[in-house]
Amino acid sequence: MKNSILQTGNSKPAIRIGYGFDSHEFRPGIPLRIGGVALAHDKGLGGHSDGDVLLHAIADALLGAIAAPDIGALFPPSDPKWKGADSVIFLREALKRVRDAGYGVANMDASLILAAPKIGPHAAAIRVRVAELLGVHGDCVGLKAKTPEGLHTENAALAHVVVLLEKLESPEKPRKRQTGKPRRSRL
Ligand SMILES: [Zn+2]
Repeated sequence: MKNSILQTGNSKPAIRIGYGFDSHEFRPGIPLRIGGVALAHDKGLGGHSDGDVLLHAIADALLGAIAAPDIGALFPPSDPKWKGADSVIFLREALKRVRDAGYGVANMDASLILAAPKIGPHAAAIRVRVAELLGVHGDCVGLKAKTPEGLHTENAALAHVVVLLEKLESPEKPRKRQTGKPRRSRL
């Protein structure tokens, strides 16, 4: 492909947007984690790992922004290794890939859609935790919660996330050792 936008190289855009979506079904008797925060509830989110629907959507948004494989590809649900795993692992891997690609997180915004529990009382704690994980200020993490009006998804939690990445200004710190140019050793 000539002059393709799929090519990588020196023409890195200064900013990149990423979008992530995830959903998990509620199951009784398991812990509920949303945004890396444990919420008191009689049901938790089942499925892949600890079912943290928000962290999964954030990780996918980060990965999508740099056109990397999504978390389903990086951490296959079929691999028993990831059963019950802390989703922070997935987010950290996505962030590492973002940084390796030469980008940092500018801000993110999320919409959670679930019937219960109410997110309002926990929103501040979730924003603080997500900001800490992303290494951004709390006012760079948006979080809205909605009830699933007309969606018939009362027994599920859905998360939509957008992230904005900005190119890091670190030309003096190449990500990989360049071949052919010996590094000056530190003496
Ligand atoms: Zn998920």
